[in-house]
Amino acid sequence: MISFYPGPSRVHDEIPKYVADAHKAGILSMNHRSDEFMKISEKVIESLKSKLKIPKDYMIFYTSSATECWEIVAQSIVKEKSIHVYNGAFGEKWFEYTRKLRPQATGVAFGVEDVLKGKEMRWNDGEVICFTQNETSNGTQVSNAVLQSARKNNPNHLIAVDATSSMGGIALNFRAADIWLASVQKCFGLPAGLGLLVCSPRAVASAVTLGEKDHYNSLTFMSRMMEKWQTPFTPNVLGIYLLMRVMEKAPDIGATQQKLEQRYVGWMKFLAGRKILQPLIENSAARSTTVIPVKGTPEAIQEIKVKAKKKGLLLGEGYGDWKSSTFRIANFPALKQSEIDLLKRFLTAF
Ligand SMILES: *Cc1c(COP(=O)(O)O)cnc(C)c1O
Repeated sequence: MISFYPGPSRVHDEIPKYVADAHKAGILSMNHRSDEFMKISEKVIESLKSKLKIPKDYMIFYTSSATECWEIVAQSIVKEKSIHVYNGAFGEKWFEYTRKLRPQATGVAFGVEDVLKGKEMRWNDGEVICFTQNETSNGTQVSNAVLQSARKNNPNHLIAVDATSSMGGIALNFRAADIWLASVQKCFGLPAGLGLLVCSPRAVASAVTLGEKDHYNSLTFMSRMMEKWQTPFTPNVLGIYLLMRVMEKAPDIGATQQKLEQRYVGWMKFLAGRKILQPLIENSAARSTTVIPVKGTPEAIQEIKVKAKKKGLLLGEGYGDWKSSTFRIANFPALKQSEIDLLKRFLTAF
C-alpha cells in the first residue's frame, strides 16, 4: 500500500534498515541519561538547525506530539491571553485546547480562500499570536511574508506557528516567529510519536519570566534539561535516532522545497486536465504546496477512494464538511515520483 495520507504518511524507504541498525547498536534499550544518548540528541539538534536553516540561537525541544506542543505553549508561554488566527480544523483545535488552560484566549477566523494581510493584523492585548502555517484539514497555507509582517506589526507579542505538515518540506523563515511546532509523521517521513518545539531566545526568556513549573513538560524544566540534550521524561529514543539518520541524509531544505514545488505544479496541471476533479481551494495564493485536497462529486469521490484502495493507493480522507466531496493527497518528500505517476495514471479516468 502506498500512502498518500497527509499524516501519518509514507515513511522513508530506509526506515526498516535504520530500525535494524538501532537494534544492533543497542539504541532500543538505551538509557536516556547516558553519554551515548546525549551525543545522538546533540547531533539531531545540530542537523535540524543546519538542514532546515533554524537560527543557531533558537532552542529545539523533543515532545511526543504537536498536540503536546500546543499545551506547552498555552501553559508555559501564554500568561493570560493568546490570539488564534485560523481557517480550519487544526487551528481551531489549537484554540480550543488553549482556551481550556487560558480561558481568555480569543479566536480570529478567516476564510479558506482568503490570504491574510499582515498590515491588517495588529493587536493591543494578549501575549502570543498563533498561526497554523499549513492547515492540513483544507490545504491552505500562510506565507513567510505574512508571518513576518504580523511580527513586525506586533513587536510586543510572541508569534507561535504550527508547521506540523510543512516543517521538513518547505523553507520556513524561522526568524519570522518565536515558536514553531511540528511532529515527525508528516513531512519528515518518520513513524509517529515524536514532536518538535522550536523556540527563539525571546520565547524561552518569556517562559522563564512567567516561571510556570507545575508540569513535567513545563518549558522552564524542559529548557534546563535541554542544556544537557535531555528531556524531563523518557523520550522516544528510537524516534530521535531515526530522525538523526533521516536528517543526516536529507538534502538542504531549499532543494527539498524545490522538489515539492515542482510536484505541486505537476499536480495542478494534472488536475486542470480532469473532468470531474479540481483543487478544493480555488485561490492559488491561499493553497498549500504540501497538502492537496481534491474536490469532486460525492459519487465520484466515493468510487475513487474504494478503487484506489484496491489498487494499493491510500488517499487521505476529506475533513469535516468536505468528508464526502474531497480526498487529500500528501505532497511530502518521502513519496517517490514513480508513486505519484502511478496515482496520476489511476486518476486519469476521472
Ligand atoms: C497532524 C497535525 C497536528 C497534530 O499532530 P499530532 O502529532 O498528532 O499531535 C497538529 N497540527 C497540524 C497542522 C497537523 O497537521
